[in-house]
Parts: sequence; C-alpha cells; structure tokens
Amino acid sequence: EASEKRLADRMGRSFELREAARATLAGGVASSWQDAEPGAIWIERGEGGRVRDADGTEYVDLHGGFGANLAGHAHPAIVGAVERRVRLGTHFGLPTEDLIAVSRLLAERFGLPLWRFGNSGTEATMDAVHLMRVATGRKKIIKVEGAYHGHHDSVQVSTFPLPERGDIGPDHRPCSVPSGPAYLPEFADLTLAVPFGDIDAVRTALEENPDSVAGMIVEPVMLNIGVVLPPPGYLAALRDLLHAHGAYLAYDEVKTGLAVAPGGAAELLGVTPDLVCLAKALGGGLPCGAIGGTAALMELIADNTYQQVGTFNGNPMTMAAARAMLTEVLTPGAYAHLEALRTTIVTGVSELMARYGIPGHVVSAGAKGAVVFTDRLRDYRDFLRSPAPWRRAHWLYQVGGGVLLPSWGKSEQFTLSVQHTRDDVRRYVANFERLCRDVRK
Ligand code: PLP
Repeated sequence: EASEKRLADRMGRSFELREAARATLAGGVASSWQDAEPGAIWIERGEGGRVRDADGTEYVDLHGGFGANLAGHAHPAIVGAVERRVRLGTHFGLPTEDLIAVSRLLAERFGLPLWRFGNSGTEATMDAVHLMRVATGRKKIIKVEGAYHGHHDSVQVSTFPLPERGDIGPDHRPCSVPSGPAYLPEFADLTLAVPFGDIDAVRTALEENPDSVAGMIVEPVMLNIGVVLPPPGYLAALRDLLHAHGAYLAYDEVKTGLAVAPGGAAELLGVTPDLVCLAKALGGGLPCGAIGGTAALMELIADNTYQQVGTFNGNPMTMAAARAMLTEVLTPGAYAHLEALRTTIVTGVSELMARYGIPGHVVSAGAKGAVVFTDRLRDYRDFLRSPAPWRRAHWLYQVGGGVLLPSWGKSEQFTLSVQHTRDDVRRYVANFERLCRDVRK
C-alpha cells in the first residue's frame, strides 16, 4: 500500500490528463489495456531505453510499448528511415519498393517463402485463421487457454477465463468461454481451448472433431501469462499431429518474432510451422502486422481465393521502418547485446531469489523475460494458482523504482531493447533486491 501511495503521489499530472481525457476519450485511454492501477502513466517522450512521463519522472522502459520497442525510442536508424520516407509521401494504397526488401528479409529469417502485411497483430492472426479455414474448408480451430491473439471473434475465446465468472472446466479439459459479452457463444463453439504444452489435449480435440478442425494457432513461447517455454518436443509433435489430421499449424509470433531470436521462436526452437504471424517489433514503433507462410497456403492469397486486404497494408512509412529494423537495428551485434542484458537480469534475479528464499524463478527467451513467483508455471491454470500478491508487489517495486513494466496481472514480462544499457537492467535487479529485503524484513 505504501508503494502504491508513493507511486500515485508522483503521478499528479497523469491523473489530471486522465480526468481531462475522460470527457471525450472512452475511459480516458486509447486502448482498454493502457489503464492500470493506480492509473495510466501518461508519457511525454522517449529516448534510447528510457521514457519520461507527464510528471517529469524518467523510467527505464521495459514495458516496451507492450513488447514492440525492440529498437528502443528514437533509434537513429528508425528516425532516419521515417524522416526520409515522410518527405516522399506517407500513403498511396499501392506498393513501394521497401515491400520487396522486407518480405525477402522475413523469408530468410523465418524460412517461409511468401508474406503479406497488415497493421496489427490482430489482423495477422485473423488472416492466419481465415487462411487455415479456406485451405481446409473446415470451421473449427484450436487455441491455447489463456493465450491472447488479438481481438477478433475466433480467438477471443478463453483468453483470460476466471472461475468466479462461470464454469471454465477441469484443468486438462478446459471449456471454451467467450472473452466477454462482445463475443458470441457461437464462436466459442468453433474454437476449442486446450492447455498449453498438452499434446494429448490437442489429440483429443482432433479425434472428437473429425474432419472439422482447420488448424491451431499457438504462441510457441507462451507470453500472456509471464513467459512459458514449451515442453521439449511439443511443437514438432503438434505440427505432426495437426498434419496427420489434415490441419495446419500457425504460430502467433506477434510478441516472440524477432525478439527471442532473429527468426523468432521458429528458429529458437527449430520447428517451422505452416504460418507465422508477426507484428509489434517489426514496425520499429509504427503500427504493423505480417503473415508469412508456405507456398501452398500463401498461394490462396496470391490467387485471390482469400482476399487479404487493408487500406494501409504495406504502408510506406511502416515498410521503411521495418526495413531499417531488419537491416540496421536488429543486427547480429544487437542480438549479442540483448543476450548480455538478459543474462545480467537472469543471473542477478536468480541469485537474489535463492539468497532470500523467494518462491519461483526467472524465465526468459531473448529480449523477453519475467519473474514467475511459483515453482511450476506450465499453463494458464498454473498461472491462476500463482500468488497474485507477489506479482502486484513486484510490479509496484519496479514501477515505483523507475522501471516501467506492462500493468500487472497478466503479461508483466519485460522487453529489452537494443538501446538499453547494463545500468538500465541493473536497476531492475536493484528494485528486485529492495522487494526481497522488504518482504523478508
Ligand atoms: N498476439 C499476441 C501474442 C499479442 O500479444 C497481441 C497483443 O498484445 C496480439 C496478438 C494482438 O496484436 P495487436 O495488439 O497489434 O492487435
């Protein structure tokens, strides 16, 4: 409570702005998840690995714009690319040459030959679901309970189902629950929720729904509940099983793509799916989305069987920034730097957890990581059982101690950027130490 009060005390201007915004901006924020307790922190500017809020407080930014800012803020390569492009016109609704470079670079990184672009992760996963349906002529899809894939109907099922709001089914056999009143139960009937990492649950879903499952969408490293690496062999087994049933495997790499390895989780874990969805980091801070796939699937776009469309698809500004991301920002040296930063956090936090006897561990992959306050986090049900007070306290100590993280409760994982320094990540470790000391006092 004291930490929350201290944080609220220095957020006066943010609170004023929120109140002013409420008159014309629904809820006083631009997206429902921008709000948090004690309130949304309004940002004035960002530079390098840091941001300054409306009250003049500087933060090490490990929120990363919900994981999009691998470049950090105002990276010279992104600024240069956007400045050059803005003078040449920002939107045509017709292709520009950067599209070729970006799609080629993605094809190399992800081992999938054909690509299309959109404007968000939601669009990318929607395209993946549409394509799998078109390719198979089947209606149903499988998704992981607790996973978020954007806010279109097919995937807004069992994203964060709470037992107190209704029946969510047993651990190994979750019910498919619409994610709020906006989403029709009819869609939940077509989306089969399974626990992450559980190949038998996928097999059962396929066997109980013969010839009606188009495919499965999955985050290969599950991030909505912290960071959960898949059990060994899970992704390869998923791909084989789905293919054996005439269905497809789509990775949602909106968060993991480019962040956990140059070629995303597909490269990190060595299993290439039929489709990969990207967004977030690809645009270097500009809105973007992308879908890549096998020739057979993407041909259905090429021949207009599935018209993948959007006024701003392949927007010149976004493509210029994406090209700079892939060539100048996310270089081999940058990945080495991210790895050094990650190691500093993991080593520091692990040592503190052992020294102070704090339950849990730190899980990380590339630029992403989270402290998990439980010894066992394999899926959403484990997450529900993990102690919320620890997560809340950790968030308050980090944000109160000048390290911005996404609002506590779900995906409070950190995102490192190429512009962060060792000192930046040491602040995260130092805040963690303060939490340990206060808890064990
Ligand atoms: N997929 C994942 C894994 C995400 O984390 C998100 C957003 O947080 C999305 C899809 C949706 O992306 P967007 O917010 O760009 O629509």
